[in-house]
Amino acid sequence: MDYKKYITIVDDWPKKGVRFKDITTLMDNGTAYKSAVDEIVEYSKVRNIDLVVGPEARGFIVGCPVSYALEVGFAPVRKEGKLPREVIKVDYGLEYGQNVLTIHKDAIKPGQRVLITDDLLATGGTIEATIKLVEQLGGIVVGCAFLIELTYLNGRDKLEGYDVLTLMQY
Ligand code: IMP
Repeated sequence: MDYKKYITIVDDWPKKGVRFKDITTLMDNGTAYKSAVDEIVEYSKVRNIDLVVGPEARGFIVGCPVSYALEVGFAPVRKEGKLPREVIKVDYGLEYGQNVLTIHKDAIKPGQRVLITDDLLATGGTIEATIKLVEQLGGIVVGCAFLIELTYLNGRDKLEGYDVLTLMQY
């Protein structure tokens, strides 16, 4: 499917110079959203996934329907202070300043095969931090799936050695 026709590009948002890829217009279309999820489900089936992990908030939009279809669990990765029980955390650099991501300490059992999902791969910082959390808990990252890849930001360089699926490239 030509998913790009369902993506809305918003110029100068959230700040000047950024061409934001808005996926809500893809989600609005039931056929396009289902088709994108189905592609990720097919990719995941042959990888024997035990668990899907996604960073807030758009990682949930992609990951939860995939986990539902595969009948495996979903573990949320969230910003600091959002998860109610004991967490592990990782700091990672943003363009300006630092961000912290957390996951519940008991979210992953050692040896579990994990698919990581997010809407978009840009510099790769978010996914790299999410991989660190999964691996610290003993999970094995067997795939990373995104709707969109911004190839000019070279996020794949941070994902060397990992299996990556992206449905659209800009
Ligand atoms: P990265 O950490 O630089 O790879 O940025 C990826 C994260 O930023 C993802 O969690 C995305 O949700 C978010 N993001 C960055 N640019 C866009 C965009 O154009 N549209 C939607 N999300 C974006």
